[in-house]
Amino acid sequence: MIKGIENANFKNKKVIIRCDLNVPMKDGKIQDNTRIIESLKTIRYVNKTASKIIILSHLGRIKTEEDINKNSLKPICDNLEKLLNEKIVFATYNENLEEIVSKNRIIMFENTRFFDLDGRKESTNDKDLSEFFASFGDIFINDAFGTCHRLNSSNVGIQNYLPSYNGFLVEKEVKLLDKVLNPKKPLIVIMGGAKVFDKIKLIEKLLKISDKIIVTGGMAFTFLKAKGYEIGKSIVDEESIHFCKKVLKEHEDKIILPRDFYTGLEFENSTTKNLRKVSEIQKEEIGLDIGPKTVKMYQSELNNAETIFWNGPVGVFEFDNFSYGTIRICEILNNINDKVIIGGGDSVSAINKFNFKFKNVSTGGGAALEYIEGKKLPGLIFR
Ligand code: AMP
Repeated sequence: MIKGIENANFKNKKVIIRCDLNVPMKDGKIQDNTRIIESLKTIRYVNKTASKIIILSHLGRIKTEEDINKNSLKPICDNLEKLLNEKIVFATYNENLEEIVSKNRIIMFENTRFFDLDGRKESTNDKDLSEFFASFGDIFINDAFGTCHRLNSSNVGIQNYLPSYNGFLVEKEVKLLDKVLNPKKPLIVIMGGAKVFDKIKLIEKLLKISDKIIVTGGMAFTFLKAKGYEIGKSIVDEESIHFCKKVLKEHEDKIILPRDFYTGLEFENSTTKNLRKVSEIQKEEIGLDIGPKTVKMYQSELNNAETIFWNGPVGVFEFDNFSYGTIRICEILNNINDKVIIGGGDSVSAINKFNFKFKNVSTGGGAALEYIEGKKLPGLIFR
């Protein structure tokens, strides 16, 4: 059982909340503030009783001085301030933090990964840095589910110095992902995306607990090549062919592969589009989306499911001319919304792009997938 905050007492306490405010940014502007909105519930709850709140988060990867200029949390602090409707004082590490903390009620510290420029201190869970972060509070809450698989100072090391709890977002994510791990059966998994290699452990785990796995998107071509099909110039993950052959041999009846594709001659939206049966892909063609026969087959399979876990788009949904399959999957799943759990960055981007609203969406990205694989996430706090 993970340790939640509902029974904790924050009265007159300085509470440090580690959020995951690592939102997509472009030219200093926030592209999608879902993660900021998700962090509000815990902050609002703690804000009712705590004497002070100190917010920590990372943003992007910090390897050079240039990354420092691009990855300040300041715009995120401004956005959170508006959403929370409370003053938040933004503090950089060049300032007198003790004084700032003592004089203000809600404070956000600058990007924790700025310490990565100094011997990767944040990302290697440096002891002194963990102690430094901890020195500003009495209690620690980890609400950064998306970072729970990372062993960093600001989310793991800090727990050695303060009584620690998981925030509401972490609890919500764990509850949601546990529905995949202990599903109402039958469980059907839709695995799309590009590379097989990154998802081998995930596929192995899901083969154990699911009734069927629809292998789709770019990933399907490595499986099709393993079966001996001509896949033209479609994306292929050569180093995973052996794995695919083994899985196909052991679980032939569980794995469902596409029957037809929309292909192009170039990897671009405007390329000439052709509909091909799986056995008809030409040497010079690239499979970019699934075709209507495949959609129909998926629909009849999905009708039998009580739980569906969807990870990864079924085609190159970023190209309008090849987003048909991903939109159709969204429509089919939207009709059985209660049964669907969506996890993994790109399926989440797809539902947002096409304006679908799903009830059970994990925003945990890599952490969510590692949780399903069965890995122990170092950021989680247990009773
Ligand atoms: P992943 O991060 O592994 O989930 O991969 C997501 C990416 O897979 C998206 O950017 C899609 O454009 C891409 N994808 C889906 N289908 C295909 C395909 N048939 N060929 C190449 N890439 C694909």
